[in-house]
Amino acid sequence: MVNIGEIKLFPLTDNYGSGHVLDIFPDSDLNIWRSKFPDLLDNENHIKPRFGATFLHSQGKNILVDTGGGPPAGKLLKNLEDLGINQDEIDLVVLTHLHPDHVGWNVLYDKPTFQSAKYIVSSTDLKYWKQENNSSNLPHILKQVDPLIYSGVIEVIEDKHRITSELTVLSTPGHTPGHISLELNSKGKKGFVLGDVAHSPIQASYTDWSPSFDVDPDLARITRHEILNKLEKEGHLVSAGHFPEPGLGFFKREAKNRYWQQV
Ligand SMILES: [Zn+2]
Repeated sequence: MVNIGEIKLFPLTDNYGSGHVLDIFPDSDLNIWRSKFPDLLDNENHIKPRFGATFLHSQGKNILVDTGGGPPAGKLLKNLEDLGINQDEIDLVVLTHLHPDHVGWNVLYDKPTFQSAKYIVSSTDLKYWKQENNSSNLPHILKQVDPLIYSGVIEVIEDKHRITSELTVLSTPGHTPGHISLELNSKGKKGFVLGDVAHSPIQASYTDWSPSFDVDPDLARITRHEILNKLEKEGHLVSAGHFPEPGLGFFKREAKNRYWQQV
């Protein structure tokens, strides 16, 4: 757990994915991975992106950002239980975007998993995923998003929406059209919940490398440069859901090289 002013932040890990590094980052350079980031690769050049979530306590509210990959293998509910938080004590679930590794615990047995929560989704992302001929039939939308709509628990929001006076939504499009991040600001301290603006610490240095999951890789690249520059300059403590555990750190710079400093 870390404090950002009066905000409490707990990084959580639901599960891990796995894939060959060049399938996940098709335009990256395997030699650079091997020489500079050998710890991120296994013997078969696979990386294992974490499926993370972030729990925040701000101004009396329990807020969960993203819900991981879900059952049967995910550990999110167990993690919350270990913090002493019951499912019905979550006030708000904020979804950075509607990919399967971020919405997996939204719904259990066709009912919202977090019974007392409103689920916050960007209007652009919801529109994108629900548009005809796109993905309205994708299993994860049918299973993990539609029941929220039928239950009336979704709150659709726009850029700059304030979740509490300490937490502001920032539109960070590209990975998906309506992707959002959260900026934290309390008592002069700054934090940031990154979402999928970046998927690996290597992108601190190789910011142009877009993963194959980016819906619009060019826009994702522009957003990634803009946001990582901002985080480096302003010194936010960042919670990065796909970075190695615990995925908490700072973007720093030494001469020409920006790097990720885990805390
Ligand atoms: Zn993701």
